[in-house]
Amino acid sequence: MEQTWKNNLRKIKPYVPGEQSREKDIVKLNANENPYPPSPEAVEAIRAFDASKLRLYPNADATPLKEAIADYYGVSKENVFLGNGSDDVLAVAFQALFNSDLPIAYPDLTYSFYPVWCDLFGIPYKTYPVGDDFRINAEDYREKNGGVVIPNPNAPTSLGEGVDFVEKLVQYNPDSVVIIDEAYNDFGGETSAPLTKKYDNLLVTGTFSKSRSLAGLRIGYAIGSAELIAVLEAVKNSYNSYTIDSLSIEAGRASILDNEYFEATCNKIIATRERLTSELEALGFTVLPSQANFVFATHASRSMKEMFEYLKTKKVFIRYFALPRIDNYVRITVGTDEETDVLIREIKEFLK
Ligand code: PMP
Repeated sequence: MEQTWKNNLRKIKPYVPGEQSREKDIVKLNANENPYPPSPEAVEAIRAFDASKLRLYPNADATPLKEAIADYYGVSKENVFLGNGSDDVLAVAFQALFNSDLPIAYPDLTYSFYPVWCDLFGIPYKTYPVGDDFRINAEDYREKNGGVVIPNPNAPTSLGEGVDFVEKLVQYNPDSVVIIDEAYNDFGGETSAPLTKKYDNLLVTGTFSKSRSLAGLRIGYAIGSAELIAVLEAVKNSYNSYTIDSLSIEAGRASILDNEYFEATCNKIIATRERLTSELEALGFTVLPSQANFVFATHASRSMKEMFEYLKTKKVFIRYFALPRIDNYVRITVGTDEETDVLIREIKEFLK
């Protein structure tokens, strides 16, 4: 007999993150994670956490963490939204802020979660091709749209744009909400968060997963006008009131208060990124000028798919996307200097 209930099940193609291998002794450079531990202050906050408090629901507004983020960006608590990783923040933002009949606009090469959310929430979208140099052309986004979302720096290209670029984008779009996804902005990029004071329709999102080494806790945030933030809160409170757990509130707050460790770690990653870039270039690779914690590279005479597969056999995991225009590129997360030594050694073996 036909099981008709199956016709009513949602059919959707989900986002596929970088492989999370649990194998030991691998060099894991495929998910843009931070190779260094979280701030010692955050580690201490977790150690000192009174687990008996988990009996209670967390502070519904995650106030201690919101206030710390607000101070960091020089805004008020009413300008901060929190979520379970910035994926959650972006998913809420898509539902809350992209309710036009017009398609939302984003680049053809970008974070592959955007089309997934559009499909899930029924949001029409239109993509605009990045240039041959992989740069985003702000002029493309003058066309009427239902919203704009752009990562800065972009992923997987690693290319960042300045605040002037973002301001132009917002000025071209007075009738829609512009979201700037700053997941990778702390590695030498320029944050557009201060612009949210000037433009009520600009939302800037960020995460503790990359620059703050807390991918396992899941803390994401958005900075924007009180009006935008209130709508995000209303949508979030329509599906899950407690997206930030008590432990994340404590550890996240400790992390953001330890600015010294944060800056030192980001600077170490930037230094290793520059070293990795020059070593790859010396081996004949073309490497885009990265402002992120990963590089995007290609080689004129070798197959990047083969290199990706070869490195995997050597327990070095990087990322390869079988997509038009970038099917001979690889995305490599910046690891420690020791991991970079292993990576370069294995790449030299591959090139032999
Ligand atoms: N934006 C971009 C561009 C990303 O690459 C990622 C990480 N996959 C995220 C947002 C989300 O990261 P998280 O949910 O860990 O904050």
